[in-house]
Amino acid sequence: AHGDFSSRIDSHHYNDEISELGETINYMASELSEADRVKNDFISTISHELRTPLTLILAPLQELLYRVSDKWTRGQLQHIQRNANRLLHLVNQLMDYRRAELGVFELKVAKGNINKLIDENFMFYDKLARRKNIDYSFNSEIGEKEFLFDANYLELIVNNLLSNAFKFTDEGGSITVGLKEEDNNLVITISDTGIGIPKEKQGKIFERFYQVNSDHSGSGIGLSLILRLIELHHGKITLDSEVNKGSTFKVYIPQDESLYKPEEIKKHRMRRPCGKRKKR
Ligand code: ADP
Repeated sequence: AHGDFSSRIDSHHYNDEISELGETINYMASELSEADRVKNDFISTISHELRTPLTLILAPLQELLYRVSDKWTRGQLQHIQRNANRLLHLVNQLMDYRRAELGVFELKVAKGNINKLIDENFMFYDKLARRKNIDYSFNSEIGEKEFLFDANYLELIVNNLLSNAFKFTDEGGSITVGLKEEDNNLVITISDTGIGIPKEKQGKIFERFYQVNSDHSGSGIGLSLILRLIELHHGKITLDSEVNKGSTFKVYIPQDESLYKPEEIKKHRMRRPCGKRKKR
């Protein structure tokens, strides 16, 4: 977790020893704050610097794949492409996280068709589900009703949760996506019958870079990013998980408009009926 090193102790009113201790702590805090800044600048710079060459590898690779028909060569190129894409995904996640942390992420919620959005993202994993022989289903209880949400961020949230569910669920398991309304919240549930998360680790997985096991591919950034995006929505995420049984993540997006600041609500442009412009 990242700390807040900005507070300082006012040590002037105490006797010498306490004020000395206070000054030492203040000195340590300012050193830590500087180290934190350097680390974060480093993350941002590295991510930017990695992205450009990666994009420049991926573009000509795609061109090559269009032209090459030899099976073996195509296989090798696809292998390169898969891993370069993976690297790009990690770098993008790191950059997204930094942007969220810096407060660059602005929330813009609007009423929209959440069913459609979830269904589209659900379908991205359909092929993978079939390949892994996973019983994959989407249950919606809300029909076409419109809800308040930020479409870009909700996509990021759902994609990250689905990608984890697939990563940690073995062949033959099942993954379910659910959508319902509860106490004026939109509730998105992503449930898997995968490896599960030990009770004592459940609080930690939302910390940046934390992984229960590092033998899976990943960075430990996904869930910390999700948590930030949900907090941005004034919502919450819950986890119910048991080792070897599976995990259920529930995302609550509040629908009470008064929870959102005016600037967090997207203003629709007023649409005038065609040709009937009001004269003043
Ligand atoms: P990453 O998946 O890149 O490692 P995340 O922040 O998305 O990073 O997840 C952190 C850790 O939480 C994972 O490494 C894994 O140990 C655990 N985890 C997340 N989702 C699941 C899940 N559906 N089933 C089991 N473990 C999970």
